[in-house]
Amino acid sequence: MSNAPKRLRVAICGAGIGGLTLAVALSRYPDIDIEIYEAASTLAEVGAGIGIFPRPRKIIQILGLEADLARTCETKPQEGKPVSAFNYRKSDQPVGINFNTLVTNGALMTLHRADFQNVLLRRLPESCRINCSKRLRTYTRRETGPTELIFEDGTRAFCDLLVGADGLKSAVRQALLSERATWMQGQGRWKEAADIAACIDPVWSGQIAYRALIPAERLNAFAPGHQVLTTPTQYLGKHGYIMAYPISHGKLINFVAFNCRHDLENTPFNGPWVGPGDKAHFAQIFAHWEPEVQALLHCVEKPLQWAVHTVKPLRSFVSGRTVLIGDAAHAMTPHQGSGAGQAIEDAYILATVLGHRSTTRENISRALRVHDEIRRPAALGVAEASRLNGHYFSLVVDGIDFDHYTGPQLWDKLQNLYGAIVKNWEWSWSTSVDGSVQEALRMLET
Ligand SMILES: Cc1cc2nc3c(=O)[nH]c(=O)nc-3n(C[C@H](O)[C@H](O)[C@H](O)COP(=O)(O)OP(=O)(O)OC[C@H]3O[C@@H](n4cnc5c(N)ncnc54)[C@H](O)[C@@H]3O)c2cc1C
Repeated sequence: MSNAPKRLRVAICGAGIGGLTLAVALSRYPDIDIEIYEAASTLAEVGAGIGIFPRPRKIIQILGLEADLARTCETKPQEGKPVSAFNYRKSDQPVGINFNTLVTNGALMTLHRADFQNVLLRRLPESCRINCSKRLRTYTRRETGPTELIFEDGTRAFCDLLVGADGLKSAVRQALLSERATWMQGQGRWKEAADIAACIDPVWSGQIAYRALIPAERLNAFAPGHQVLTTPTQYLGKHGYIMAYPISHGKLINFVAFNCRHDLENTPFNGPWVGPGDKAHFAQIFAHWEPEVQALLHCVEKPLQWAVHTVKPLRSFVSGRTVLIGDAAHAMTPHQGSGAGQAIEDAYILATVLGHRSTTRENISRALRVHDEIRRPAALGVAEASRLNGHYFSLVVDGIDFDHYTGPQLWDKLQNLYGAIVKNWEWSWSTSVDGSVQEALRMLET
């Protein structure tokens, strides 16, 4: 190992998908020193199933992770071919209607978050240190010299660049925006200061997700040949929807049910944001839905309840030598299955600009500006598209009341709805991250 001084010392706060992907992507540049600080005492196997679309999947391929992941997940590598991703079904009625199948270019990779985290951890070089039980409280920014990190246990550390990959309730975002708002107040720019301060805390989307992993054997015993054993399916209806798909080589079914109260968006949520769900309560919401849904509900045990919160659109993901990535920067509703994918894109573009030969400790703000110009509009666009999908999946589109239609008229309305969903979502499988990488390199090299 070389003892030459490192070009950059990067501190990553948070060892979730965003933070670990960044560490793996940065480890391709041996002259960058990487230190990870994680609040949890161990990197426990938490989380549920997630889906990764072809766009971020390309990054997984570039980082050499795909073969390891393919060993743990249901979806086999399938380059750029049309693939059936989800069956769509209207289900808030006694007999459900399969009304279309979402076809994507390249397969949706469905996997357990913990499997993904393990694959990333195995890829980290020994030189990358992970410090657990290190909950960041805040940091001190200086005009020159290193940034000082201050942890809840009273210890401190230093870095050239701090990356806030610390999720929805990010301490880095809190410190970054508080400092920015205070500065604006000092300039007498009260409105801007208030707008910035309003982005510090996450806001409730008006939606509650109930998540569970169902053993496939249990579902098959209760409802032999149920379609979600082999086919990812979305069951749509008024005020909510259910999504279910196989993971872990088909041994488990990832189940998530959403109760959507769009009228409550941006109101405060009273109660714990994450905790045990009350099965009787949520089953009641879907009580009048079709038998396929009832079979799934029957097999759910101990659901986890999740009040879906988001981060309001930020004016910048960067301040000085601090940058936010993943949920810390742009936590979004999960209706495009893209929160983790966007964290992966952030990580990859950030590593690309930091790793570029022209980036040094002295000119790092230029690299961060390029990252922000590429990633912020893209991620905020996905967040808005995800919000819109939440409306479509709960049958909110163009003021149509689907209950008023039957037969061919209902079929036509459902096809229009399907068309709107595809138009809003096709960027995930029809665009490539290559364009963003080229644009970043062009900006760095001119
Ligand atoms: C119901 C639901 C379904 C979803 N489905 C999908 C899907 O299908 N596809 C998809 O792409 N995305 C999905 N997502 C979103 C996805 O899970 C997140 O966007 C993604 O995990 C964010 O990764 P992250 O690394 O930014 O944050 P996190 O995974 O939250 O990681 C943050 C890390 O920072 C640590 N941390 C927190 N505070 C501190 C601190 N002060 N100091 C040090 N460490 C700290 C935490 O312990 C954690 O390890 C879903 C989300 C939900 C709620």
